[in-house]
Amino acid sequence: MSRAAVARWQGALDLLRLVRQQPGITRAAAAQTLGLSSGSATEIAARLRDLRLLDERPAASGGRGRPTTALHASPEGPLVAVVDIRHADWEVAVADLTGGLVTRARGRRPGTRPAPLLAALRRALDKTVQGYPHRVRAVSVAVAGTVRGHRLVQASTLGWHEVDLSRLDGGSLPLLVGNDASLAGVAEARRGTATGARTVLHLIVEVGIGGVLVDRGTPLTGATGAGGEFGHLPLGDPAVACPCGATGCWDMAVDGRAMARYRRQPPPDDPWRYATDTLASARAGSAGAARAVRRCAANLGRGVAGLVNALDPDLVTLGGLAAPLLDQAGEQLTASYTAGLMAFRRPVPTPLRPASLGARGPMIGAAEVAFDEVLSERGLTDWAARS
Ligand SMILES: [Zn+2]
Repeated sequence: MSRAAVARWQGALDLLRLVRQQPGITRAAAAQTLGLSSGSATEIAARLRDLRLLDERPAASGGRGRPTTALHASPEGPLVAVVDIRHADWEVAVADLTGGLVTRARGRRPGTRPAPLLAALRRALDKTVQGYPHRVRAVSVAVAGTVRGHRLVQASTLGWHEVDLSRLDGGSLPLLVGNDASLAGVAEARRGTATGARTVLHLIVEVGIGGVLVDRGTPLTGATGAGGEFGHLPLGDPAVACPCGATGCWDMAVDGRAMARYRRQPPPDDPWRYATDTLASARAGSAGAARAVRRCAANLGRGVAGLVNALDPDLVTLGGLAAPLLDQAGEQLTASYTAGLMAFRRPVPTPLRPASLGARGPMIGAAEVAFDEVLSERGLTDWAARS
């Protein structure tokens, strides 16, 4: 692409990104933030409006003076298709520039092998892409496993190894594949509890514990995308083996499998359900369940402290079962967290906050990283050529 073409789009991209972060910002405030003259801002906004990327609406004026114009991303613009592959089920949705997310198809995981699921997902994706002619610009997949490029290299909870996801491209669209916990962290950092924080550590307990460090909205997932496997740090009991192949994993100390061990019960078939049942029993007054919950909360707090010492986030967001652990055994979690922090951190410990986006987090994050691709010089040039 020529340098002139890149320069042509830069102001438009800056304005569009700002409007997505601050929906309803006035044109005057946007111009000031971006250091644009009023004339340039008006011209760029008009161009974006013509391309169905931006809506301009009259805004309530602040008292005296001329009525102002509020800027919103347009729901009529480019879309991304989002796929969520979870432990027991799947979902395909479309996301628009405003952050709207509409479910197009969902189902249970058909059996345990990858092939029938991938076939069902491809059918659902084809139908979704055809339902919005020329508008779906990328496919973004969130999956409960470790990802390298377009490959799922290990998914202990699904029982899968080395699954190629590259044909989930809706025909021939750009494809992004990410770990569900990492994408949930992106969502929390951009649109959830951690909006506005610089460096966010997001942790989510479901079956095991996943997470990501998000720095200024960007997930740090390593050279190949397989980073962020905090659950396989040796913060657990060295005598306990993990399905990942290692021993002593933190995964095995914080979830339903740990609760079952602490209650001297056999390993559960569905550790997530076992954990939610144990949390409910603890709330209902079962002393054994409450002890198991407290031990898991303490194990969680100790590991979070180690990660805070190592990574120095502004804020830690806790999703999945970590939120009820904080709610029901906050004292144990906070005590072991504080005890694990280096002394200089203790007067003002990095706050721990429940995540706010819940089960939609991975899909919202998947849409965000896909729009990062679509809202590029190349992506907008393509969009303008087809509009
Ligand atoms: Zn492990």
